[in-house]
Amino acid sequence: MITRRDCLARDSADPLASLRAQFAMAGADAEGVIYLDGNSLGALPAATGDRIKAVVESEWGVGLIRSWNSAGWIDLGQRIADKIATLIGAAPGEVVVADSTSVNLYKVLSAALAIQKTRPARAAVVSERTNFPTDLYIADTLARAHGLELVLAETDEIPALLDERVAVLMLTHVNYRTGRMHRMADITEAAHAAGAVVVWDLAHSAGALPVDLNGADADFAVGCGYKYLNGGPGAPAFAWAHARHLAWMDQQQWRQPLAGWLGHAAPFAFTPDYRPGAGMARFICGTPPMLSLAALECGVDTLLAAEPFGGIAAIRDKSIALTELFIALVESHCAGHELTLVTPRAAGARGSQASFAHATGGYQVMQALIARGVIGDFRAPDILRFGFTPLYTRFVDVWDAVAQLEEVMTSGEWREPRFNIRAAVT
Ligand SMILES: *Cc1c(COP(=O)(O)O)cnc(C)c1O
Repeated sequence: MITRRDCLARDSADPLASLRAQFAMAGADAEGVIYLDGNSLGALPAATGDRIKAVVESEWGVGLIRSWNSAGWIDLGQRIADKIATLIGAAPGEVVVADSTSVNLYKVLSAALAIQKTRPARAAVVSERTNFPTDLYIADTLARAHGLELVLAETDEIPALLDERVAVLMLTHVNYRTGRMHRMADITEAAHAAGAVVVWDLAHSAGALPVDLNGADADFAVGCGYKYLNGGPGAPAFAWAHARHLAWMDQQQWRQPLAGWLGHAAPFAFTPDYRPGAGMARFICGTPPMLSLAALECGVDTLLAAEPFGGIAAIRDKSIALTELFIALVESHCAGHELTLVTPRAAGARGSQASFAHATGGYQVMQALIARGVIGDFRAPDILRFGFTPLYTRFVDVWDAVAQLEEVMTSGEWREPRFNIRAAVT
């Protein structure tokens, strides 16, 4: 039997423990809240408030428009992109920070389709039926516009679908609902063997676990700034392309569909004709949001601060330990309450979350838990989702969260009508 004392001992021995102090929740105000939703909205870094205040009051208020140069605003996006590159196995200059994940997906999918355009027999974009809906909507819209078809498959059917009809395989590395993780290198290799180009969405993996885009020889990737990167609500997202595709785009003078002035080779020449910037630079469309970028940099810096303690590999080790502990505790303490693990049991096949299905009361159970200060989320139709963010989640938090879940289940309080009122965001 694992005890609460065991969990406290693990926290004392945790090499990443000191990194929790980087977050506002480590302060007294946040006492009593156990946050297991950093996979949906990363927690607020303690540094962000002061940074935003400085950007507003000093850089904007005093520096005014001069701050584009004097405060380095114009270079901030690329500086952050190069930091993110270190977390995802990309080289400096291969990543841009811009727009939202959805918009970036539209842009990189457009590039992937352009590369495959000389092969008209390839008429399919393949993805997973359980992929995050925005990815599917974007891919479907774009595929239709290009006269292609979006083909959706169950996870295990994908390898068999990879043949000469597939232009693009678009997958999310870690499934948002189940937490199941794809074997990026193997799937990429299989897709390449079939002549397909692969687009990866790293929304649930960047900052949560080691990603090696170049090592996997991937083609394109996008990812989210407000989940494990702690960039704040609606933070800018990122996009990456392999150097071979950057070279192709340069050679073709390829323009992305949202060719805007800041992706131009010389924006301040103000010429009427568009000339794409080199490499990833063309993926910028318009003026970057400075307040959001400043917050994103604070968020990314919380991850880089783990470097002296083992970096993303140490984050992954702790993430596995946290999810193992959570699964074991739920299954022992909440047995008989119809909670079914939907996340892979094999640690190597899951991301940094654990999801349990509850056939009849998933939404209500989560609401009852949130009322007790344990914050996870619900994904229709039946999934209770818990994210584990090793920079700020402690082993004792896992223990306490399961103790609350056990009380919610054994008391039956989740059946109270007040927990069945649906909010807009679940
Ligand atoms: C969170 C998430 C997104 C978010 O897209 P936005 O454009 O930021 O709303 C996209 N794809 C996946 C797989 C996600 O998990």
